[in-house]
Amino acid sequence: MIGSGEHDEVAEICRDLIRIDSSNWGDGSGQGERAAAEYVAGELAECGVQATILESAPKRANVLARITGTDPTLPALLVHGHLDVVPAVEDGWRFPPFSGEIADDCVWGRGAVDMKDMDAMILAVVRRWARDGVRPRRDIVLAFLADEEAGGRHGSHWLVDHHPEQFEGCAEAISEVGGFSVTLANEARLYLIETAQKGLAWLRLTARGPAGHGSMTNDGNAVAALVDALGRLTAHQWPVRLTPTVRRLLDGVADTLGLDPATPPDDIVRHLGPLARMVGATLRNTAAPTMLDAGYKVNVVPAAATAHIDGRFLPGHEEEFMATVDRLLGPGIERETVHHDIALETGFSGDLVSAMVSALRAEDPEAGVLPYCLSGGTDNKAFARLGIRGYGFVPLRLPPDLDFSGMFHGVNERVPLAALRFGARVLDRLLVAY
Ligand SMILES: [Zn+2]
Repeated sequence: MIGSGEHDEVAEICRDLIRIDSSNWGDGSGQGERAAAEYVAGELAECGVQATILESAPKRANVLARITGTDPTLPALLVHGHLDVVPAVEDGWRFPPFSGEIADDCVWGRGAVDMKDMDAMILAVVRRWARDGVRPRRDIVLAFLADEEAGGRHGSHWLVDHHPEQFEGCAEAISEVGGFSVTLANEARLYLIETAQKGLAWLRLTARGPAGHGSMTNDGNAVAALVDALGRLTAHQWPVRLTPTVRRLLDGVADTLGLDPATPPDDIVRHLGPLARMVGATLRNTAAPTMLDAGYKVNVVPAAATAHIDGRFLPGHEEEFMATVDRLLGPGIERETVHHDIALETGFSGDLVSAMVSALRAEDPEAGVLPYCLSGGTDNKAFARLGIRGYGFVPLRLPPDLDFSGMFHGVNERVPLAALRFGARVLDRLLVAY
């Protein structure tokens, strides 16, 4: 297993990666992922793993490598992490966000949990294998990706479209936003493995009407029509729709806390502390208005008014979502989809799930392990196009009081050193045994 020397190595790699500013501004500005990709390829080369850097555009670099397993009859496992991070400005940070400071037993900086922690864990494990002459049973395909924070057009989606051969034989994948621990009020510790993701429907709504003087009557005022429609949409109480994943999670939490099985879903979710905001969004479809635009002068009624809606639908509930939105908007409001991506859901069963649970329990025997649905999306959506079944599994044993989900894209993003070392040990166990 990973010994004390490697304990430090995972932290050092995480710190090194944070110090390489790979901010993704979404508009092609910035340094891209090239420097981070070269660092990763260098770390792999040092332990004899030949990596390929594939650029989708200048500096938008992806790193691919395959570690050949001992049993060629087994399907390959894809282990992927993104190299880009969302931008960070220094306001409100205790340490500069790209300093990779190690203080208070944490590595601090942009990417510490999203997701240079996992990138570092993967590299630490592979380097340990090289030193100890370990080979996994199945082929492990490593992918360090560009552009996740802007939808993967230069990363996962581009690779799926242009280099599907890199993923030959991969049946399953593990990556970000799952495998972390949550501590409940009774001190029980649960690890949540992501087995589902909501889909997304980003919508542009437009109302049109006669332009004219603001002092005169105007029966078809576009601004008024849009605001009315938004009022109906935001007042709507979306009904609870429990997918199998969410049902299993709620049953597990209720059981762990000894709650009445008839406790309403929203009340069970409240027991998850800061994570409740995210898990609460997976009880139902949601449609959040995020942008508004109309008019140019106070005494001129404009001919059009627009709004953007961040719509998120549960697996199996896309049609219901769209039909509900259209009914609430009513006639006269144009609705266009500006971006769409699929929802995902897979069962909490099978050999990989068993292996993830075993690897966690080997390092934390008391732990409960449950599936959950992510309210957002990850690169697993792109790989689903190749038929690859993806899970969120970045194992982290976290202190009870850490607002983990609040650190994604937040200030003072940091990962405890102990959690990073724990994660490297669990990942090592999983990848060797599976
Ligand atoms: Zn991420």
